[in-house]
Amino acid sequence: MKEKQTNLVEAIVAITDLRQRQQLEKALTDTIAEQLGDASVRLYDLGDTDGQQRARLEMEAEQAACLPLLDALLAAGTTQSPPPAGRNERGLLLPMQHYGDQISAIGIQHHRGLDDADLRLAAGLVRIYQNFLKLIDEKDHDRLTGLLNRSRLEAQITDSLEYNARFPGDDSQHGPQERRQNHFQGRNWLAVLDIDHFKQINDRFGHIYGDEVLLLLSAMMRKCFRRHDQLFRYGGEEFIVIVKHVDKDGAYAALQRFRRNIEAFDFPQVGRVTISIGFVQIERQDTPTTVIGHADQALYYAKTHGRNQVMEYKELVSAGELKAESIEGSIELF
Ligand code: GH3
Ligand code: MG
Ligand code: MG
Repeated sequence: MKEKQTNLVEAIVAITDLRQRQQLEKALTDTIAEQLGDASVRLYDLGDTDGQQRARLEMEAEQAACLPLLDALLAAGTTQSPPPAGRNERGLLLPMQHYGDQISAIGIQHHRGLDDADLRLAAGLVRIYQNFLKLIDEKDHDRLTGLLNRSRLEAQITDSLEYNARFPGDDSQHGPQERRQNHFQGRNWLAVLDIDHFKQINDRFGHIYGDEVLLLLSAMMRKCFRRHDQLFRYGGEEFIVIVKHVDKDGAYAALQRFRRNIEAFDFPQVGRVTISIGFVQIERQDTPTTVIGHADQALYYAKTHGRNQVMEYKELVSAGELKAESIEGSIELF
């Protein structure tokens, strides 16, 4: 018994030593599996219908006992906070609520069945994980908009650069056929978005309405971009999006769609708001400073050539509109 408790304490120490969400998830599922012995433990993302569909398929294949529990959870809706746990003879489903109201769930299937003590142990570990994740999430997110904050940005760009190094070969070297076959198709792009004449919005309507514009705009960002794209509030009225795994046309289309959504939206009291966007591919040889600097140069061009438009750095360089130069030192945004 003592040894088991010591193992558990050590596992908790190991979990709370981690800072990366994916590592934390793995440590959590591994620990529950180890503590319950001979259990299959999985974490499912239930944030959107895609994730829910994937969860059903995976459960059908590996955790059939949890499937009716998932159906019951989804049928009851996930509005109850936190959604209740489900349990049957061989399965256990523990839902979790995260930052930004995202829902995930731990599915556990055990061949001998699960008793009350198992349930309390697993639920306790999940609560420790959730409390810890909340601390990490608060540190990484902007308070007003809930988007990722500036301190996360550098780490995320570095991740993208490492990803590029692991999956080399850019679009120009591969045909569309080859790219389609590659699961990790397309590249990562960084876009800087800046609200046009935001100072005037504050001046005319006051800061409260200005803040409301920032809130609505960030909510629209969440809806418009894909779930694996990363969204940051970089400064006051400046945002950054890392658009992932698409070619240039795909990145351009996503950014144009967002720009048009904002242009078409009737902001309460304020009315029409527009944004300008500059973007660039995140390339292997880059540093976070050069990537942001290049996107910012493209943004500056968009600002000085009419605003309410999307500009790509390399195209501007090829057209002779921008000079290619490496940017060193501190990042100066527009
Ligand atoms: P441009 O089209 O050239 O980008 O014009 P702009 O007025 O948006 O640019 P500028 O950078 O001169 O002004 C940005 C303004 O954003 C200044 C500041 O008052 C406002 N701002 C910055 N952070 C916040 C915030 O958190 N809330 C509100 N309401 N306003 C903010
Ligand atoms: Mg602005
Ligand atoms: Mg600005």
